[in-house]
Amino acid sequence: MANEEELYALKKKLSVLSSKRGRHTELITVYIPDGYDINKVTSKLSEEQGTASNIKSRTTRKNVTTALEKILQELKLFKQTPKNGLALFCGNVSEREGQTDFLLETIIPPKPLSINLYRCSQKFVLDPLYEMLEERETYGLIVIDRRNADIALLKGTSIEILASLDSLVPGKFRAGGQSAQRFERVIEGMAQDFYKKVGEIATNEFNQVKDLKGIIVGGPGPTKNDFLAAGHLSTELQNRILGVIDIGYTGESGLDELVNKSKDILAEAEITKEKEVMNKFLGHLAKDTGLVAYGEAEVRDALNKGAVDILLLSEKLNKKRITLLCPNCGHTEERTVDKVPNLVCPVCGSPMQLVKEKDLIEDLTELAKEVNSDVFLVSNETKEGQQLYGMGGIAAILRFKLQ
Ligand SMILES: [Zn+2]
Repeated sequence: MANEEELYALKKKLSVLSSKRGRHTELITVYIPDGYDINKVTSKLSEEQGTASNIKSRTTRKNVTTALEKILQELKLFKQTPKNGLALFCGNVSEREGQTDFLLETIIPPKPLSINLYRCSQKFVLDPLYEMLEERETYGLIVIDRRNADIALLKGTSIEILASLDSLVPGKFRAGGQSAQRFERVIEGMAQDFYKKVGEIATNEFNQVKDLKGIIVGGPGPTKNDFLAAGHLSTELQNRILGVIDIGYTGESGLDELVNKSKDILAEAEITKEKEVMNKFLGHLAKDTGLVAYGEAEVRDALNKGAVDILLLSEKLNKKRITLLCPNCGHTEERTVDKVPNLVCPVCGSPMQLVKEKDLIEDLTELAKEVNSDVFLVSNETKEGQQLYGMGGIAAILRFKLQ
C-alpha cells in the first residue's frame, strides 16, 4: 500500500514528464511489470537500437539511439526488476531543434505495475502511473435491502466487490390473521440474522483495510436504516459512516449508483480531514501553546531535533532544495530556491556547481520520515490550506516545546 508521500512524489514527477514533448517521435517509455525478467527487457531494447538505425532523419536517429543507450545503462544498475516493477522515460526534450537536453527518469512505482510496454513517441506514456494516483483513497461501501447486500471497496474510481449476500428473507406475508403475525415474527427474525451477518462480514472486511477513509451505506427503502439501527457494525466503523443514501438497486448497479450519488460526500470527507489537521495547528498557534513551528528555517530546526509530530506542507509549494559545490576551494552550500541560480563561491569567487537538486517537499518529507513524523500535504482548496500557503507553505505541530 502506497503512502501519501510516495504518491505525492510520483505526482510531481508525472507533472514534469507530462509537460515534455519530443520535437519528433523520439521520447522513449519503458514499463517493466512486477516480476518480469529484466534481461529480456535489455535484449528487447538492444533490438530496438538496431531498428532505430533505420530511422531516416539523422537527428531523430541519433536521439533515439542515445535515449536507448541511456536506458540500457540505467538498467545495468538493477540486478532484477524491483518489487512493483519499473518505469523508465528517456529522450531529448530540448525545445530547440538541433539542441540536446536529454531527460532520464526512472520510477519504481508505489504499487505493482502490470503493464509491459515499449513505446517511442512524441510524448511519454504516463497513464499507467496516473492510474495509481487515482487509487489513493479507499472507502467502504454497503448496499442493502431485504433481499441482498453487497459489501465493496471504492478505490479511487474503481469498485471492488468483497461479498454479495442473499438474505433468503421471504417477502411480506399478505394474508391477515394470527398465522400472519407469527409469520411476520419469523421473517423479522430472519431479517435480523441477515443484518447481523452483513454487519459481521463488513466489519471483518473493512477492518483489514489500512487507512479506510470512511463508509457509505445505501439501498432502496428503509432496510439500510434498519440494518444500521441493529448495530452490527463495530462502533469504530459506525463512527466512520459518511452518509446513508437512498438508491434504487442493490448489486453492481446499486454500488455504481451509490458512488455516483456520493461524489459530494467524498469530496467533503477529504476536505474535512484537511481542515481538521489545519485547525489543530491554528488552535495551537492562537493559544500560543509553543507546540507549533512555521517557516522553513524553524520547521527544519524542529525536524532536526525530532520535535515534529505532524509536518504540514502546502501542495502548492514549488521550490527546490539544492546543494552547490565550489570546484576550486571545496566550499559547499545548501539552499532553497525557486530556480537554480548561477552563484559564485563566497570564499574564492569561482562559479559554483550544482551537485544535488531535490523538490523541497520531497526533501522535507525525507527528513520527517527519519524522525517518524507524519506528513500531511494540504491542498489549496480550503481557506485553511490557503492560510498555510500564505504562511510560507511549511508548518508543523510539535511533540514538545523547543524553548
Ligand atoms: Zn570557492
